[in-house]
Amino acid sequence: MKRTILIILTFIIFGCASQKNDNDTFKKSFYNYEIDLNQYNNDQLTVTLQYHGALKDSSVFCMPKVVPGIYDTLNFGKFINNFTAIDNDGNKLQTVKIDDNRWKIYSTEKLNHITYKISDGWDNYSSENFRPYRSAESSFEINSFIINPSATLGYLKGHENDSFKLEISKPIELYAATSLSKTSINETKDLFIAKSYKHLVDNPIIYSIPDTTSIRLPEINIVVACYTTSGRRISKEVAKRIEPLIKNQIKYLGSILPTDNYTFIIYQNTNLGNHPSVSEGLEHSNSTVVLMYVPDDIEVINDQIYRVVSHEFFHTVTPLALHSFEISNFDYIHPKFSQHLWLYEGTTEYFTIHMLIKNKMQSLDAFTKTLEDKIREMNKFNNNLSIIELSKDPVKYQDQYMNVYYKGALINLCLDIKLRELINGNYGVQDLIKDLIDKYGVDKPFEDDELFSNIVNITGEKAIDKFIIDYIIGSKPLPLKESLEKVGLILDENTFKISTQENISEKQQKLRYSWINQ
Ligand SMILES: [Zn+2]
Repeated sequence: MKRTILIILTFIIFGCASQKNDNDTFKKSFYNYEIDLNQYNNDQLTVTLQYHGALKDSSVFCMPKVVPGIYDTLNFGKFINNFTAIDNDGNKLQTVKIDDNRWKIYSTEKLNHITYKISDGWDNYSSENFRPYRSAESSFEINSFIINPSATLGYLKGHENDSFKLEISKPIELYAATSLSKTSINETKDLFIAKSYKHLVDNPIIYSIPDTTSIRLPEINIVVACYTTSGRRISKEVAKRIEPLIKNQIKYLGSILPTDNYTFIIYQNTNLGNHPSVSEGLEHSNSTVVLMYVPDDIEVINDQIYRVVSHEFFHTVTPLALHSFEISNFDYIHPKFSQHLWLYEGTTEYFTIHMLIKNKMQSLDAFTKTLEDKIREMNKFNNNLSIIELSKDPVKYQDQYMNVYYKGALINLCLDIKLRELINGNYGVQDLIKDLIDKYGVDKPFEDDELFSNIVNITGEKAIDKFIIDYIIGSKPLPLKESLEKVGLILDENTFKISTQENISEKQQKLRYSWINQ
């Protein structure tokens, strides 16, 4: 294993692609959360919640047990201490802790406010005592507060779709970066507004000494917000490095780019060489959190960010713009998982590798090396397990989960070549995704069970039905050798080496050009 471990997580939550109308759609019933960063003590903050709206005689306060896209039990209720509900006369209401993540509050018709202490999940991100999913948690340090709302703020059962006001008091020198709608009330207080709990938890916030650079493009405004434990300001250099990447991603996506604002929240803890370097990225619909434990070397930092960004930014397409009801109506306590990880992670990862060659950012040789790595890694997993089965019960198949980045991407590769072969090279996975987004979209989820028949209808190709049954629903070995042969590439199934065929036919050349512009 290389010294640097890269983990790309996915956080499949989305509410809206743009915050333009937040204030217009503010609802009658709403939550008013208050946090004072000045009162930070012992890695804890005090949270106060007033709910404005009618409540029944008892209510259940919930923290997420599971969040979309992290396919494991997180139990964010574990970060709450001293949970207290106070009535209008200043007396404590009776509360009972139901389980790790839920508190039942009695007589909530008299509720004035709820208060609790919230702990952070980590202090200095590093590979020592390594554990995954820290990019979903909060971290409270004197110079940097990473606030992941799902690990900090809860909701009242049945009131998930009410609006949220979040008021944060802060030291004057700290600045908030987030894609959430923000108003500075004064120099030491900010107000954030979210349409719903889903929208709130989809928008992490970082407070730190300001180090931000904007990338303004005709299609999208991007903010790069950085914090380094070394104190070094890196956002300008990071923005300079990722701007060409983002431009290429926009070019690759064409008209299917579903958002016009995006924030990269980047945290770097300096690795002084005591432990292996590690990075992880956690993507949301309008932002990505990147955590890094790497040396204080801008080249290394930029390389890590580049790798995370190239995958995470493509998630603006799947699942932000294209997703099923399971994701759209996510249940944070009893989730039902969508069966389409081949699409949410597989297509995203395929776009990441395919764009490089399609946009002439990479040689054919470098591209085939990437494919060899994907094939080699895929073969370390149990490929008798269908990707649909894995998607439906990812907690059970934790040890197989990472295969969505290998087999998931390679399914898309075979599908891309198959589509181009069937439709005279004029139509590939990029076109299919565009057509699906035209049919569904950010606010129009699809039925999990109906996606495949819609793909067959859209493409008008019965042969795609067989491909889906064999390789996505079923677990037949992927037709990699056969698919690559059609574009003049030879796969050795024993060594996983790919070579270019000599004397390539006109038909093969035409299909290859349609696929990768080579
Ligand atoms: Zn992902």
